[in-house]
Amino acid sequence: MPTKHTIAELRSKYLAGSVTPTDVIEEFFKVVKESDGEIHAFLEVYENAREEAKVATLKFKELGESAPPLLGIPIAVKNNILIKGKKATAASRMLENYVATYDATIIERLREAGAILVGATNMDEFAMGSSTENSAFGPTKNPQDTARVPGGSSGGSAAAVAMGAVPVAIGTDTGGSIRQPASYCGLVGYKPTYGAVSRYGLIAMGSSLDQAGPLANSVADAELIHSVMSGLDDRDATTIDDNTYPKVDIKETYTIGIPRHFLKEGIDEGVLQAFETHVADLEKAGHKIVEIELPLFAKGLAAYYVSMPAEVSSNLARFDGMRYGLSESGDDLLAVYENSRAKGFGNEVKRRILLGTYVLSSGYYDAYYGKAEAARVLMREELNQVFTKVDLVLTPSAPTPAFRFGEFADPLSVYKQDIFTVPVNLTGVPAISIPACTVQCDGKTLPVGVQYIAPHAGDLRLFDIGKKVYDSTI
Ligand code: GLN
Repeated sequence: MPTKHTIAELRSKYLAGSVTPTDVIEEFFKVVKESDGEIHAFLEVYENAREEAKVATLKFKELGESAPPLLGIPIAVKNNILIKGKKATAASRMLENYVATYDATIIERLREAGAILVGATNMDEFAMGSSTENSAFGPTKNPQDTARVPGGSSGGSAAAVAMGAVPVAIGTDTGGSIRQPASYCGLVGYKPTYGAVSRYGLIAMGSSLDQAGPLANSVADAELIHSVMSGLDDRDATTIDDNTYPKVDIKETYTIGIPRHFLKEGIDEGVLQAFETHVADLEKAGHKIVEIELPLFAKGLAAYYVSMPAEVSSNLARFDGMRYGLSESGDDLLAVYENSRAKGFGNEVKRRILLGTYVLSSGYYDAYYGKAEAARVLMREELNQVFTKVDLVLTPSAPTPAFRFGEFADPLSVYKQDIFTVPVNLTGVPAISIPACTVQCDGKTLPVGVQYIAPHAGDLRLFDIGKKVYDSTI
């Protein structure tokens, strides 16, 4: 399979009969065999995909144009999403041998649409990180430059698409984990409006922030995958019915707001240049660029690193050595908990559980957790105000291109990679990262992405601008 396959291309080849799902799945196994020893995008590949491909090949012959939209399309899935009968490890020792007993809602929907699930992708442990260096099973390398990280936490999903194994992979995004790896690997990465996609069957990180979405080679593919996965679900009470929101309209040209005050410190020169080139191209294409102020947005990182660990500490309390996964013996019940959690969790996960427990503890709750949650409300109001004046907000997706392994020794420098992405999760709005440009680093060409942010439930507007500025160029 050549590196840049889209679902649309595969489908038209299937329809023409020039390629079959079996050919594509065999090619997938070949690419993995040739490249994944070095890249390590996958924690597991699913042999049963071969059988499914045979069935899909026959079905395609029978159904032709009326075949379901993803029939015979190979899709890789981040390993914190439950697939019945397969391991769901969240790249943690804690869940190393945990086998899912049911399908996540999004998995059910992908299957119904005919997708072939081909493997589980690597990630930062429990989705905490920006590089996949926090995986308990070893990092993933960036296919563009193997001395560099693919981003994270959905780094395995990004690498799987970037190395040409699959046209699309599913990731999760709590603070940027789809958009940042997409930016590092030259892909489209989309984080839906909070509640647009069911979280049933996702291993929770921050329940008020988590959403699942695609990493793909085109905006049209991301839109297709989203249309299959999204919608109300009785099993996740936070899912929303799109129709209850005022429609966010699609326009010929948009008014796009840029928070330039937010683009001053700690941003790589190459990223800034790529961003400004993109802005100039938008103006040439007839879009209107206006400067906006988002002072609270710029403080999102501080609020995120209080709210998110608070939710992490609560969500991960269930991994106690009794109910799920790893269980270490001990003299009494408390020792079982302590030994299991000490051995099962890596350092970053422990750090966040400690932080979260602290900010929720009596005496500190109001000072930290309460304040961060209040800041989220104000950020939402600030953003709503801005969206009365502009249709979309544009920022870089990340402050740097893909960084080198071990480049950041302290956690804070890594957290700063999330500066543009976390405010989006804190406010629940949708955003998409699209490849904008490339920069030269150490003789390698590295991709740089830009992030478009739309108002609440304005997902279609993101797909529209993405297709205008990106799909038309590929
Ligand atoms: N890099 C961010 C973090 O470490 C985002 C993680 C995510 O979106 N899952 O929290």
